[in-house]
Amino acid sequence: AKEQGRNTYRFYTSTLTIAANERLELDARLRRALINEEFILHYQPQFDSLTGMLIGCEALVRWHSPEHGLIAPDRFIPLAEETGLIVQLGDWVLQTACAQHKLWLDNGLPDIMIAVNLSARQLQQQDFAERVAAILDATGLPAERLTLELTESMIMLPGEQAIELLRELKALGLKLSIDDFGTGYSSLAYLKRLPIDELKIDQGFVRDIPQDRNDMEIAATIIAMARNLNLKVIAEGVETDQQMEFLTLQGCHGYQGYLLGHPLTPEAFIEQLLHAPNR
Ligand code: C2E
Ligand code: CA
Ligand code: CA
Ligand code: CA
Repeated sequence: AKEQGRNTYRFYTSTLTIAANERLELDARLRRALINEEFILHYQPQFDSLTGMLIGCEALVRWHSPEHGLIAPDRFIPLAEETGLIVQLGDWVLQTACAQHKLWLDNGLPDIMIAVNLSARQLQQQDFAERVAAILDATGLPAERLTLELTESMIMLPGEQAIELLRELKALGLKLSIDDFGTGYSSLAYLKRLPIDELKIDQGFVRDIPQDRNDMEIAATIIAMARNLNLKVIAEGVETDQQMEFLTLQGCHGYQGYLLGHPLTPEAFIEQLLHAPNR
């Protein structure tokens, strides 16, 4: 029994070591990937529920690894957040998305929005608003064309901290959106005090419409609440006509989802818009 115990112990220490090594290795590869410009952004369109017009797009990062091909953000963003690399990667994403969007606007794309995802680590940078201002300045993108997507947990800060930070960002002239709305714990009273412009209904509440009555209730409640607070509300993960019809009936302003368009390379994004400008 004693022998076995020792073996078990050794087994666990070695797997822990391997896990730590793998993380170090992935961290090193991510840092190299940033230098070697292996990250790319895909863009997913958003449409107005009433007119069917394109209203914006969301930039979603991917890692184009020479060895492993296209890697989804869920596989590397969490580690980048842990190690802090997300600050540099996040700057790259913001810079690239703003530059791309400026180019599109200059080439006659309608006045749509570009949405960029943020991580908590980025917001924790004391000079975050200044960084955003510098990127807008460098790329020439008008601030009112940029939406920053935050999650509920990122803005549940004590005291006036969140309000001050969000006000500083709003002062630049951009829009603020709460991503994955409904999955966090922000209260209605709290939301009301924050200078935000938009809620995005988490795709978890959209997926099972119309089979799941509870999800339909939740989606309808979020839409009603957003409208009462004078916020725009976008549903994400819309995959079927039925989902879109239900959400429109509830007063949802906009949609994003595979039904209307997958995240695409900049070239494919433009190509798709040229061939189907309106639905
Ligand atoms: P998210 O911000 O909630 O982005 C929406 C995710 O849903 C994207 O996954 C998108 O491809 C996917 N999606 C869009 N339409 C549909 C649909 O109709 N059905 C289904 N099932 N999925 C749909 P993706 O691109 O893999 O991104 C995953 C997450 O990674 C994002 O979730 C976001 O939290 C994070 N992420 C992506 N890009 C960035 C970034 O530049 N910075 C940071 N901090 N996080 C990012
Ligand atoms: Ca998002
Ligand atoms: Ca989301
Ligand atoms: Ca998400």
